[in-house]
Amino acid sequence: MLRVTFPHIGNCYIPFRTLLQELGIELVVPPLTSQRTIALGIKMAPEFACFPLKVNLGNFFEAIEMGANAIFMAGGVGPCRFGYYGELQRQILKENGHDLEFIVLEAPKTHPLELWEKMKRYFPRHRLHDISRAFSLAWYKAEALDRFDRLANQIRPRVNQVEAVDLLQESFYNSLDRACLGKDIKRIGTEALRELRELPFELRPKPLKIAIVGEIYMVLEPRVNFQIERMLGAMGVEVYRNIYFTDWVRDQLVYSIIKPNWRKQLSLLARPYLNSFVGGHGLETIAHTVESGINRFDGVVQLAPFTCMPEIVAMQVLPTVSRELSIPTLSLIIDEHSAEAGIKTRLEAFVDLLAHRIHRGRSKAGGRKLEALSGY
Ligand code: SF4
Repeated sequence: MLRVTFPHIGNCYIPFRTLLQELGIELVVPPLTSQRTIALGIKMAPEFACFPLKVNLGNFFEAIEMGANAIFMAGGVGPCRFGYYGELQRQILKENGHDLEFIVLEAPKTHPLELWEKMKRYFPRHRLHDISRAFSLAWYKAEALDRFDRLANQIRPRVNQVEAVDLLQESFYNSLDRACLGKDIKRIGTEALRELRELPFELRPKPLKIAIVGEIYMVLEPRVNFQIERMLGAMGVEVYRNIYFTDWVRDQLVYSIIKPNWRKQLSLLARPYLNSFVGGHGLETIAHTVESGINRFDGVVQLAPFTCMPEIVAMQVLPTVSRELSIPTLSLIIDEHSAEAGIKTRLEAFVDLLAHRIHRGRSKAGGRKLEALSGY
């Protein structure tokens, strides 16, 4: 009997669990990523492998300890190394005494028949009705999560007690993870948004607006990015994350098939600085930084795993974008040697710099108005 696991990426384990269980898979969800996970991964991985590959290996090892004997992994094509992850991880685990079945699911756009064959083979419930129910429930959960996280990032710098937002977020994740019916998912999502809006506000000057861009895994996984959204929120910053799971699924799995020009807007934004696809989210990093400059954001933070080629390319271009559009940027390269204190210190310095810039502008313009807080 197959007992399947998958790697963690942010809160996606919640919709993934629903999707796979509804398709009849016996599932082993690994413990949430921790220092132990990272330590296990780096023990097995080559030193210069991408950081997400190392952390995922740790997830697999912890799932194997819990009885997993097969692994679902996404495949990929393109200039970055993600396409090799599945095979590389299979070999590394084998060398470490774990010869498991590795099921690499390729994107429907590139290998539609192969994907369907694998679904028929591995998913006990694969009638159209089952597939449609499983995908709908998982999608409702993913949408509820993204809606909540977006609002939480806007509300955090405005409430009296920032910890109240984090507690609400944890309890919302737990309730949503347990929900099995569409109507329960809807109710839990609506109630959580209402509770979030009802948290006591404080009248303060308008918070700084910072966009988070970068490699998808580092942006979505709070346990490797040191909870950057919460950290910035506690510093009084409104965070605009540029990658959400539902947007990614919509772009990569739907628009890439039915809308041939789906990347056009991003390409146009990035074109003056980067005019080719460099893999991963390199082009998106530049496009969203340009967009943030045009929309008068106060700053941009780029998150990149150590040795990530697309983000290294983007990093070379960012100083020009920053200078020409007058938007300060901060690049954070994260790996197993990064520490929370180091990241926090750099963010505090960046936020101080942005606040100073605004203060100078405010002195010239005669002061920023206190913002109205009723719009949430
Ligand atoms: S995007 Fe970067 S970190 Fe992710 S697989 Fe590609 S090279 Fe590695």
